[in-house]
Amino acid sequence: MRLDYMSDLSKKNIYDFSRETLKNLLITDGFKAFNAQQIFSWLYQKNEPNVESWTNISKNLRSYIQESFSFELPTVIWDGQSKDGTRKFLIKFSDSKTVETVLIPAKNRLTICISSQVGCAIGCTFCHTGTMGLTRHLRPSEVTGQYIVLSEWLKNIEPDSRITNIVYMGQGEPLHNFDNMKEATEIFLDDYGLGLGQRRITLSTSGMVPQIKKLNDFPPVNIAISLHAAHDDIRSELMPINKVYDLNRLLSAIKEIPLKAHRWVTFEYLLIKNLNDRIEDIDALVDLLPPKISKVNLIPFNEYPESNFKKPSHSHILWFHNELNKRGIITTIRTTKGTDILAACGQLKSEYEKLNLWN
Ligand code: SF4
Repeated sequence: MRLDYMSDLSKKNIYDFSRETLKNLLITDGFKAFNAQQIFSWLYQKNEPNVESWTNISKNLRSYIQESFSFELPTVIWDGQSKDGTRKFLIKFSDSKTVETVLIPAKNRLTICISSQVGCAIGCTFCHTGTMGLTRHLRPSEVTGQYIVLSEWLKNIEPDSRITNIVYMGQGEPLHNFDNMKEATEIFLDDYGLGLGQRRITLSTSGMVPQIKKLNDFPPVNIAISLHAAHDDIRSELMPINKVYDLNRLLSAIKEIPLKAHRWVTFEYLLIKNLNDRIEDIDALVDLLPPKISKVNLIPFNEYPESNFKKPSHSHILWFHNELNKRGIITTIRTTKGTDILAACGQLKSEYEKLNLWN
């Protein structure tokens, strides 16, 4: 696990550890393996960080935990709601750095869009976050913490709502922060942790080929690839990472992703007017995508202040969608949500000083 920032170097944050890592730590310090399970139950199932109330745990272990660990979670410092019900939150960490997290309601579903880094190093030219550069990786506790604090927040605002799905599509490139995202994902999936199903979590990557090749060492969640173009020159214009890992290298790595039966790789495709929305783009997509495992999710471009790109017309988006489906590629159009509060894909950027403009 990579800890890029610790507010109190004398104490480890207990939320940074998967049950397996915590178990190893406890055994090294003379405690029992099953103590990790007990601690997880208190933290994640009973949501009780007050160690004094952990009645089934020995006094000796309780003292060790209090001396060794902090229990720090991020805080919500601002929230805004779109006309369509999408909510955007500004989440603050102990070093005062912030990220944005989004809750997206849909029929029978409430999806949390989680950030993985403060800023992002990838610099996609269509993305608001990409203009920030990378400040630092998020720790596991800061990743799961977005889910934990917003679940608590919801209890007060909408007691009947529950977060059902997680997408790693907020600020940052999750595979650039591989070890911490892996640890956080293990906590999300652990039955003694946050207890989410594998199919409820989707990791989205810009196409970091060496890390894609390491996905057999990552919990088996859904994978989404930000493709956005089927020609190298256009993709390099949109995503500088393509100059290092071009489409050929990317697709070779994708074919090696360990997929469970009936699992798909979703290719996210940002539709931009007069750039990647032509008939030759459809031809190239059909040639490029591995059959049987590929789904395409079209995302009409979300314009934001200073963006250079435009969204195609509604009729053109439908034409593109129909053509791909006709040619045997399962294609959906993502409903754009939260554009009025800059909460849609590619629009996230923590600008605390500008928040009053969005209220
Ligand atoms: S689209 Fe994702 S990977 Fe690209 S700059 Fe934005 S946050 Fe980073």
